[in-house]
Amino acid sequence: MVNLLDYDLDGLTELFAQMGEKPFRARQVFRWIHQAGVADFAAMSDLAKSLREKLAAVAVVSPPVCRTEQNASDGVRKWMLEVGSGNSVETVFIPEETRGTLCVSSQVGCALDCAFCSTARQGFNRNLSVAEIIGQLWWADRALGREPGGERIISNVVMMGMGEPLANFDNVVSALHVMLDDHAYGLSRRRVTVSTSGLVPAMDRLSQECPVALAVSLHAPNDALRDQLVPINRKYPLHELMAACRRYIEFAPRDFVTFEYVMLDGVNDREEHARQLVELVRDVPCKFNLIPFNPFPDSGFDRASNNSIARFRAILQDAGLVVTTRKTRGDDIDAACGQLVGKVLDKTRRQEKRITIHHTK
Ligand code: SAH
Repeated sequence: MVNLLDYDLDGLTELFAQMGEKPFRARQVFRWIHQAGVADFAAMSDLAKSLREKLAAVAVVSPPVCRTEQNASDGVRKWMLEVGSGNSVETVFIPEETRGTLCVSSQVGCALDCAFCSTARQGFNRNLSVAEIIGQLWWADRALGREPGGERIISNVVMMGMGEPLANFDNVVSALHVMLDDHAYGLSRRRVTVSTSGLVPAMDRLSQECPVALAVSLHAPNDALRDQLVPINRKYPLHELMAACRRYIEFAPRDFVTFEYVMLDGVNDREEHARQLVELVRDVPCKFNLIPFNPFPDSGFDRASNNSIARFRAILQDAGLVVTTRKTRGDDIDAACGQLVGKVLDKTRRQEKRITIHHTK
């Protein structure tokens, strides 16, 4: 059985060709699945009965199964989706006045080990399949009650859930193609954002294969500090990352990169850090998104004070940078940035190692 959620339109067309079916049939089925949200071939009423039967014999439309749903007091909704072997990932919907954003996960756990992220604590289990990535949008669209052909509730997608999207490149790009496809969700490239901790070669590939809006998790203004907070920096240090951002902008749907910067009390929130940042991004067209740190048990970090965030912000703004401070949303259900954990059976046994280190100290 093949899962049709695993295919973008090109892939589905090819699959249909192998079955002796015309490209427009693939398009029809693709629209049933993603626009009408239909998983049952029998309900695809404008397909020949013979094709429906043929499909039912070899294929399924199988999204990840939703295990729990939580609703925060501010309208944020979070779903925990089962992805097999006792693992699960989380997807978050964030309603705002002028848009509705879905925050999508790309991996079960994460291998990058950023110091302040709770997903990192779970270690890495595996990449999500295309079906599991696009299945989050498919699921949320239905759970939010969108009628086929009705008004769009999810207007934006950010790949800012669990995992490093560019470390699961091929599956993420196929899923992005489905998000952008007019026969599916029809989102514009500027309304779909990939957030990366800075995998430089994959940023270049993305600029060629599917240049959507880019956010980069910066979090530190110099290599010494970034090496500690975002360990992938040891492989792709800041000067390489800045050069990659400049290259990306040539192909990007927006004329800037968004730098995310988590505000950690006493760690990266000093005035000198802000001044270093201004120097660092001097030739990179960018906007800043300051994220007040969202705590989780034993994180070892505290949220920067509102005062230091305001001071930090003022220094960047005085230097002519555009800065927003991310509003914390959904924190009463642990749905805020960096709080997504799902359930991950850690193949790296990182949590165990941490405990051991702790005990032998
Ligand atoms: N791996 C990708 C996608 C994760 S996006 C990336 O690193 O960009 C989630 C954003 O939230 C990233 O900028 C991440 O660094 C940030 N984040 C992680 N933990 C956080 C926490 N505890 N509080 C606030 N932001 C956090």
